[in-house]
Amino acid sequence: MQNDSTAANPLLDFSAMPRFEDIKPEHVEPAIRSLIDENRALIERLTAEPGTPTWDGFVSPMDEAGERLGRAWGVVGHLHSVFDVPEWREAYNAMLPEISRFYAEVGQNLALFEKYKALHDSPEFATLSPVRQRILGHGLRDFRLSGAELPDDQKPRFQEIQEEQSQLAAKFSENLLDATNAHAEWVSDEAGLAGIPDDVRQAARAAAEAEGKPGWKFTLQMPSYLPVLQYADDRELRARMYRAYATRASELGKPELDNGPLIGRILALRDEEARMLGYRNFAEVSLVPKMADTPEQVLGFLRDLAAKAKPFAEKDLEELKAFARAELGLDTLEPWDVAYASEKLRQARYAYSDQEVKQYFPEPKVLDGLFGVIRALYRVDILPDEAPTWDPDVRFFRIEKDGADGPELVGHFYLDLHARSTKRGGAWMDSARSRHRNTWGSDTPVAYLVCNFPGPVGGKPATFTHDDVLTLFHECGHGLHHLLTQVDELAVSGIHGVEWDAVELPSQFMENFCWEWDVLQGMTAHVDTGAPLPRALYDKMIAAKNFQSGMQTVRQLEFSMFDLRLHGEVDASSGPVPIERVMALLDEVRREVAVMIPPAWHRFPHSFSHIFAGGYAAGYYSYKWAEVLSADAFEAFEEAGAGKGSLLDPETGERFWREILAVGGSRPALDSFKAFRGREPRVDALLRHSGMVAQA
Ligand SMILES: [Zn+2]
Repeated sequence: MQNDSTAANPLLDFSAMPRFEDIKPEHVEPAIRSLIDENRALIERLTAEPGTPTWDGFVSPMDEAGERLGRAWGVVGHLHSVFDVPEWREAYNAMLPEISRFYAEVGQNLALFEKYKALHDSPEFATLSPVRQRILGHGLRDFRLSGAELPDDQKPRFQEIQEEQSQLAAKFSENLLDATNAHAEWVSDEAGLAGIPDDVRQAARAAAEAEGKPGWKFTLQMPSYLPVLQYADDRELRARMYRAYATRASELGKPELDNGPLIGRILALRDEEARMLGYRNFAEVSLVPKMADTPEQVLGFLRDLAAKAKPFAEKDLEELKAFARAELGLDTLEPWDVAYASEKLRQARYAYSDQEVKQYFPEPKVLDGLFGVIRALYRVDILPDEAPTWDPDVRFFRIEKDGADGPELVGHFYLDLHARSTKRGGAWMDSARSRHRNTWGSDTPVAYLVCNFPGPVGGKPATFTHDDVLTLFHECGHGLHHLLTQVDELAVSGIHGVEWDAVELPSQFMENFCWEWDVLQGMTAHVDTGAPLPRALYDKMIAAKNFQSGMQTVRQLEFSMFDLRLHGEVDASSGPVPIERVMALLDEVRREVAVMIPPAWHRFPHSFSHIFAGGYAAGYYSYKWAEVLSADAFEAFEEAGAGKGSLLDPETGERFWREILAVGGSRPALDSFKAFRGREPRVDALLRHSGMVAQA
């Protein structure tokens, strides 16, 4: 299919790994444009064809063309993230609107929807593999949730609802940001700064100076607000900051920044959308593509966890109150004292420095440890390999397993560990290529693993904090999900098609190994002495990990329950929901699960961006949900390793690979979990790992 002009463009070469050394910003526009044209022409041709479509004649060519575009644009997006120089930023942004327009157009293409439906209803459907049937089902579901099946006279209204929702979400964020920036606390006397760390003071002084004023300016931005609440000895300052923060974007501040009416309107629109699609409420719509089946099931899950966590939260709070009374002279613990007293208690009890821990985690030892865990669990080898990269610091590896005729290639990954000025922050795993086998050929998967850790200095290897090590294992868990897949269908291989509330299972699962004494002994070596992590330091790390886990858990449960019930129980069928109704529901939830009840003037919903301006509506529960799955899965390894001195049990590892990692999105995540664990998920392992275990 390649003509002369495309043959010369390295972005259009899909024969092997991306040619990072040859690909230049000027290749982007012609390559992406030609791939979009190719896709558009194909869709036009296929939808114009008369007769019933077939898998090989319709889905396969669609997949093939889609994969080429996805892979080429994936390279551009990747370079935009890891090599963000002006020319690449420009090349990326120049094509971004066009690519978004193309994907939106495909999602709303009714002729395409009709073709998928015709194949789904044809005699061929019964002859397709269950995986292919599932892929078609997902495709139709996504079209339906975008309103494709509504009667023609309802479609304009559905479109209006979508547009108004995105406008309201944007306004919600803007109000919150403006309200956050609208307030400042000024301190004129140095004595008023007592307790506040130096770097925070300096930033506050610089902020005042920037306005040509004396004194110190503290703001409601996290890096200023949080340290004041944690460290400022001046209780009045903490109280004022707390109140300002808690009432942001509400009717208690500037009327034009009040998010209350927006909340009411967003809820009404979501309710209307749900009813148009034939559901009882928005919580049901949100759960359609998720692992959880019904709002009742999720609520039951949250209540079960709450019942078990609440006694520990109460204990945490009692302990904090007693400490505040005895050590800090605070007879009543007010909400603006909680962070302050907690920080003092944490220091008194579990003080150790990240700096101390870091000396035990030099990079080569950590990588050896990580690869060793993977080798022991899955009996695969990780070997250095060669491929063009975007930076000399990037490494490339191949994964092999033993086959009947010698080593067999499983997949490849790039490892880009160190921070650079051209790399966006954070850590992530992304797909460079997905496993597939089809009429047009087959490919093994390739992943990008990207972190922002410190690099080596002064001839010594880089050393990582324990948090860094957790991040590395987490991203590697996503990577293994992508790389160890055995699914041949692109749409559900690796992490593709995995339910949103189950995607974090393999990643959080891997984190658990970083808290195991035996595993840590094999992956730590003091950077000067070579000694492994001492037991006393390890014990402190574990204790600090579980500090106030009861209180933290019930807080997350409060948010989750409020979100779910708001979208499932509050009647919004007769127009915007009054904010009093929203606040009353939050009070009800707090009476059930919270241990610390905020003052009546607290306006939490007005800043709950996750659900009003992010993608988490009726989905906030996913954080805890996935944590339960990963902890419960890890418990299988603890059980298998009991009495053997190591939980790196290859038989359990083989089963985890086969039932969870290998199958990707090819079957429901709950089926995969049950196939691995032999039963439904339970919350007990998470409670135990968080130190919430009833004392006998
Ligand atoms: Zn993750």
